[in-house]
Amino acid sequence: MIQIGGTRIAMEEQPVQQRIKNFCSVPLGYTEEEVIAEAQRCIQCIHGPCEKMCPVHMDIKAMIREIVARNFKEAFLIAKKDNAIPAIAGRVCPQEEQCEGVCPFFNTDNGINIGKLEAFIADWAMENGVKEEFHIEERPEQVAIIGSGPAGISCAVDLRKYGYKVTMFEALHKAGGVLQYGIPAFRLPKDIVDYEVSYLTEIGVEVKLNHIVGQNIMFNELRKKFDAIFVGTGAGAPQFLGIEGERLKGLYSANEFLFRTNLMKAYEFPEYDTPIVCGAAIGVIGAGNVAMDVARCALRLGAKNVYMLYRRTKKESPARIEELQHALEEGLRFMELVNPSRVLGNEDGWVTGIELLRMKLGEPDKSGRPRPIKIEGSEFTMKLDTVVEALGNKPNRLFLDQTPELETTRWGTLEVDKNLMTNVEGVAAGGDAIRGNATVILALGDGRKAAQSIHNYILRRRK
Ligand SMILES: Cc1cc2nc3c(=O)[nH]c(=O)nc-3n(C[C@H](O)[C@H](O)[C@H](O)COP(=O)(O)OP(=O)(O)OC[C@H]3O[C@@H](n4cnc5c(N)ncnc54)[C@H](O)[C@@H]3O)c2cc1C
Repeated sequence: MIQIGGTRIAMEEQPVQQRIKNFCSVPLGYTEEEVIAEAQRCIQCIHGPCEKMCPVHMDIKAMIREIVARNFKEAFLIAKKDNAIPAIAGRVCPQEEQCEGVCPFFNTDNGINIGKLEAFIADWAMENGVKEEFHIEERPEQVAIIGSGPAGISCAVDLRKYGYKVTMFEALHKAGGVLQYGIPAFRLPKDIVDYEVSYLTEIGVEVKLNHIVGQNIMFNELRKKFDAIFVGTGAGAPQFLGIEGERLKGLYSANEFLFRTNLMKAYEFPEYDTPIVCGAAIGVIGAGNVAMDVARCALRLGAKNVYMLYRRTKKESPARIEELQHALEEGLRFMELVNPSRVLGNEDGWVTGIELLRMKLGEPDKSGRPRPIKIEGSEFTMKLDTVVEALGNKPNRLFLDQTPELETTRWGTLEVDKNLMTNVEGVAAGGDAIRGNATVILALGDGRKAAQSIHNYILRRRK
């Protein structure tokens, strides 16, 4: 019997004391019965607000109907049609700001758990060897993709569907971008990322790892060899506060900290010989998803006290609700309304602490959040062994410096038109390379739109 509405079906999770000692997934996933019961809560709103709020406009209602009917294969194929990596998006999308946030049950019994339904059917497909099947009518033109993050992945998949020969260039030794090196395995297990990347090879995308465009292969060479190019190089260059003491040993950017931990497997030391300094007391500056990832990694690496240093309050934290809740359960100490003014060090050049200023909240700024205002003379210090700055990233200069012909904005992102084409003929761009710090699903949507624009460009050129 269909039972609509009702309270959200809770998902089993690793107990806190167990999970802070490992990097395995925190949510343990729904069982078949649970996933159906959760899907049955959906009332199939006529106007489908969840679908309208989804940046790739997934056919969410149809996916849910198929889950209710236990047609997991159909449900998966529906999700996969609009979203190249549902197992990933289901786990990391900020659903509360998108599909789930507009669900009529959001403010009462929690919206339908759309993300976890999506992850379930994608995992089911992976376990049962179910893949999207499509016939590729090969075309002679070749397209290069620079960067293997979600933008590059979705662009590559769609271009293959159009029939182009696709070659992907990735600077690192593993493909996946932030999915691989940034988001920790306890949020996004790496076998899932590897599976999605291996799918690219299966459908005929040539993935060239350890190829830095602008260093060991030049952009102009690619322009001569390929009919079109997609730039999905992300935003991997960290930002710093520019305060005294940032050159001390024991101070990291979030990128470096996460890169060492996740991609270079510092948490499996000494099996992997990547060093990481994670003292007993660590201060993480920022309060977004990246800061949460750093804090939760630090707890798992053995830090006794992990402080989040944030100039606003928890309420204004831009992190996903689930990440903040998990971090607090795991022991994060959230310090509200503080702003670092100086990092303190000893004679040997190591971090010993931080000086903070107290803040208060003022009128809303452009972001709609209350502006943090310094309280003069409120400085105080605290002892820390490690400091990590998680303040957001901007596009890496390495590629941009080699491509002066590509127009950029004043924020250093690539300038594109409404079809995501750059000013250079046949070159499209998307994801964080044009948006700065955005989200996986926006990168996926861009990759898709850019593939369509590249296809249109190649067709026009043929005439
Ligand atoms: C720690 C962290 C946590 C996050 N958590 C979330 C989350 O929970 N939910 C969410 O939706 N979003 C999250 N985000 C944001 C999200 O991951 C990004 O918006 C998304 O990955 C952008 O995709 P992209 O393909 O544009 O770039 P990226 O994922 O950054 O991929 C770019 C790729 O291009 C490669 N590259 C760069 N330059 C070159 C070059 N010159 N030659 C060849 N290759 C190059 C890079 O090595 C990289 O692999 C998080 C980001 C970080 C850093």
